[in-house]
Amino acid sequence: MEQYQCHSCRAKYNVSEQVWKCQCGGVLDLVKEKVEWSDSKVLKDIPSMWRYIDAMPFDRDSAIWSGITMGEGYTPLIVLDSGEPNTFVKVDYMMPTLSFKDRGAAVLMAKAKELGVKHVIADSSGNAGTSIAAYAKRADIACDIFLRKGTSPKKIAQVKAHGANVREIEGTREDVAEAAQKAVNIEEKFYASHVFNPYFYEGTKTYAFEIWEQMNGAPDTLIIPVGNGTLLLGIYYGFKELLENKCIDKMPRLVAIQAENCAPLAKAFINNQQAAEPVENSGTLAEGIAIAKPARSAQILEAIRATNGQIITTNEEEILKARTALASKGFYVEPTTAANYAGYLKYDHSSDEKIVIPLCGAGIKSN
Ligand SMILES: *Cc1c(COP(=O)(O)O)cnc(C)c1O
Ligand SMILES: [Zn+2]
Repeated sequence: MEQYQCHSCRAKYNVSEQVWKCQCGGVLDLVKEKVEWSDSKVLKDIPSMWRYIDAMPFDRDSAIWSGITMGEGYTPLIVLDSGEPNTFVKVDYMMPTLSFKDRGAAVLMAKAKELGVKHVIADSSGNAGTSIAAYAKRADIACDIFLRKGTSPKKIAQVKAHGANVREIEGTREDVAEAAQKAVNIEEKFYASHVFNPYFYEGTKTYAFEIWEQMNGAPDTLIIPVGNGTLLLGIYYGFKELLENKCIDKMPRLVAIQAENCAPLAKAFINNQQAAEPVENSGTLAEGIAIAKPARSAQILEAIRATNGQIITTNEEEILKARTALASKGFYVEPTTAANYAGYLKYDHSSDEKIVIPLCGAGIKSN
């Protein structure tokens, strides 16, 4: 029986359909046995993130994940520009629903299916909702997605196309999350939250495994866009497992990027706080990282500090310029991803530092 453990008070819960946070209000992690990992465990003939299934919480032979996967993951790692041979982009928008969220959503919905879930609720700034909607449909699970009124119309259309019931909420991104959580409790549905459900991180951690395989080791530095930290935490857990198994000899430095107009983590980092205080989102094109009150802020800050990392913020003008600059190199991305590249451009580094930048969301998703 798999278990959750509260990150704050350490209370344990059996994994079940209804539990999504601790009675003390804390967020839940997965209790895990040590993953035994080595080169020989990679299933080389599976060209997706499921080649690392022996490091994931599933049986190799289960028909559930294999019936749900759409080939997510195992994305290209490309030198960005021949003038900077040590800077790589990992093209994570090459995914079934065009964002990295598919890594986590595929795992989360496969787990929901294993638990016998019939109906899920999720809230999202757009891409996570799209991804959960797609995989829910594939798993034959009914799905309600809570979105903020004003979310990119293309993202809303994408969610609806998968047959999900869209519930638009007036207010902030935080109001949307609260409305979804209330509905989860009242309607007794499974909360397919990329933020609260730790299985999501078992998917995003494959980002680290892929880089390790593609680079034959770890880079020096990763530049990571951070709102709720679902990619950052997955990357951190993934590289930690690789380090514990001596597949790599040091942790890469995690450099987090936030939009200046909504940067609670950057503020907490500078002020040496353990957790972030909520901020007011004063409006940013980078809607995918505009999270004013990240539920896992303490964990995110721990991970950045543990790797001797830092947080960089980018303003709206820098985001727009970065989007054009990336497009001129062949990569058309949404503004949230441009914000991440803008952060890289401000990151002080030497020319021999090996850096990986994810390109998380496709350009045609936004206006
Ligand atoms: C979700 C998302 C992010 C941010 O991920 P978090 O888990 O909120 O930190 C960044 N870029 C894109 C394109 C996204 O969809
Ligand atoms: Zn607790």
